[in-house]
Order: sequence, then structure tokens, then C-alpha cells
Amino acid sequence: PTRLEDLVALFDVRPTDVPTPDAERAAALSAPKFGTVFTDHMARVSWTSADGWKDRRIEKYGPLQLDPATAVLHYAQEIFEGLKAYKHADGSVWTFRPDQNAARFARSAHRLALPALSVDDFIGSLAALVRTDIDWVPGGEDSSLYLRPFMFASEAFLGVRPSLEAEYLVIASPVGPYFAGGVKPVSIYVSEQYHRAGPPGGTGDAKFGGNYAASLLPQREAQKQGFDQVCFLDAGSSTYLEELGGMNVFLVMDDGTVHTPELGSILEGITRASVLQLAGDRGYQVVERRIPLAEVVAGLGSGKVKEFFACGTAAVVTPVGRLAGSSFDHEINGGEPGELTMAIRQELTDIQYGRAEDRHGWMRRL
Ligand code: PMP
Repeated sequence: PTRLEDLVALFDVRPTDVPTPDAERAAALSAPKFGTVFTDHMARVSWTSADGWKDRRIEKYGPLQLDPATAVLHYAQEIFEGLKAYKHADGSVWTFRPDQNAARFARSAHRLALPALSVDDFIGSLAALVRTDIDWVPGGEDSSLYLRPFMFASEAFLGVRPSLEAEYLVIASPVGPYFAGGVKPVSIYVSEQYHRAGPPGGTGDAKFGGNYAASLLPQREAQKQGFDQVCFLDAGSSTYLEELGGMNVFLVMDDGTVHTPELGSILEGITRASVLQLAGDRGYQVVERRIPLAEVVAGLGSGKVKEFFACGTAAVVTPVGRLAGSSFDHEINGGEPGELTMAIRQELTDIQYGRAEDRHGWMRRL
């Protein structure tokens, strides 16, 4: 395997001449506002169909200049990833299963007819950026540096065909605890009217910008009615639970089994895969299957469904306290976080922050 040092060395570091003053950075890190403040640099690699990937570099964070005909602005040929860098007690900085993000990025690229970026370049770009902006990794409890790799079609050409040029970048934003005053169950509205992506064969299993664009209207409508999140149903028959706009979902049953929607048209969450592993380690039988909404609604009424939670990189594991739709409205577990939900949340964050043994070898030092 290639040494991380060698991967990082492929990136030419071109430091900014206007670094953020220490006091300003300290202020940003003490109260991070996710997605609004970014580190001083970004990683960047450019691709052309003639030359492949070239010009690996770390450069000053700043605006991109795009020709108005740039393909991504017209046909949305764009993919992204999301993962975090965690600071451990000894000051070392780690990511959680970045090889899985790299593999998913390659699958998304394939589906969107974008060029494949190697796992080595993906990991190398993360390490090169984090090492350059190491002072931007927050050390506070449940804080981290959110990393956002993305790739877009950059050719200036209006024909509808795969772009012959692409840009890959990584930007980074410090984030604080998702739940500032302690974990609070969220409320979810099940959308029977809108879908976020198509059935299997569509783009639901790719981390493609268009899926998120399609989720905005239903999300806004649900929020207007007082809900935190939307749960989408399968786009084929509107019968089965799929996922939230940015999280996978799990059910804990009264018979000690744990269920989650099967793969096909949903995003293959890395938190989802890790929760399946940790629940299995605890002796729970884990089941990936098609889960009819009607079964969940009946199970919430009868008490068969005991816990409901959502999971993803941003909020880790989030208890759901209320599930509603056009014809039902159920409180879950008395509106309180479920026991297994919170145990798995604790175990996962303990691994990520270096407080528990990494028995599955999930952490990678940057
Ligand atoms: N589903 C969707 C639609 C998402 O955007 C995300 C966030 N990447 C997830 C699930 C959870 O994936 P992960 O656990 O890899 O963050």
C-alpha cells in the first residue's frame, strides 16, 4: 500500500498570502457555524479527457471563475462527499472510514459519467488539506472539521454529453456539536407526494447534487408545518420507507431485531454500515429489507416498533420522537431517545473521538 506521506507529497502546497488572523480563527473555532466559515485553503485537482488527473495542489480558498456555458451550471453533472476530521486527546487528527467515502465517490462518479478519482488521490487530498489547515481542527467536545470533497463538469460546452473536463476540490468547515443542549429527538414528516430521486437505476444511490435539489421543496413544506425532517418513500410505488434528505433510517423492534431499508435507490451510508456492524456485535439480528410504511405505522400503534432513529455523518445517530404523514401521527418511545439508539450513538462517537478501542480498524490518521 502507498504511504500517506507519498500521497500527500503529490500535492503542491501554495500557501495563501492572507491567512486568517489567529484571533479571528480562534473565535470561529470557539463557536463554529457549520457551513459558513471555511479554512484558509482548499485541495484541487483538474481533469481533462486527454491528460487525465493533473495539477494536484493546495491553494488559497476562494471563488471559482466559471464560463457561463460551464456544463455543471446547465446539466447538474456534480457529485460530492461528506466526512469529518476528529481531534483526539493527544492532538492527533483522524478520519472515520475515508476509504468508504472514496469508494462511494467513485461509484457516484461512474453514475454521473464523471471521471473516476483514485482512492489514493481522494485520501491524499484530505490529508494534504488537513495538514495545511491543521490549526482549523476544533478540539472541543463533539466538534470536528467537516470535509467536503466534490467534483463537477467544468467544460464550457452546451451539448448534452459527458464533460471532457472536470474539477475536483475539497473544502473544509469547522463544526460544533449538532445538538447543542443535549440530544433531542427530531420529528419527521413522511412525504407521500414528492420523491428525492428515482427508483433503482435512478440516482438515489449516488451522492449527486440533483437529489438534494429535489429534496428542498418537500423539506421546506414540512418545516412550515413544524417538522424537522422529511422521510421519502420509494419512487416506484410510494409504499416503502427509503431515507431522509441526508440520513438513513433504522427501526428497533420489540423482538430485539433491528431493521433498515435495503440498498438499491438509497444512499449507502457509511454510518448505516457501521450501525449494522455495531448492532450485530451487540447480538441484535440486523435485517436489510423493503419496509412498508403501513407496517411501521401499525407497529408504532401496537408497540411493535420501539425505537426509530436516523443516522449520518453530520448528526451521527439521531433519535426520532415523532413520525407523521397525511393520515397518521405517532409519538415514538414517549418522545424520548431510545435505549439502543443512544447506546450505539455513544459507542460510535467514542470510536470516532478515540475514547474507545477501534476494534474494526475504522479510523485513519491524517
Ligand atoms: N442518505 C443521504 C441522502 C445522505 O446525504 C447521507 C449523508 N451522506 C446519508 C444518507 C448518510 O450517509 P453517511 O453515513 O455516509 O454520512
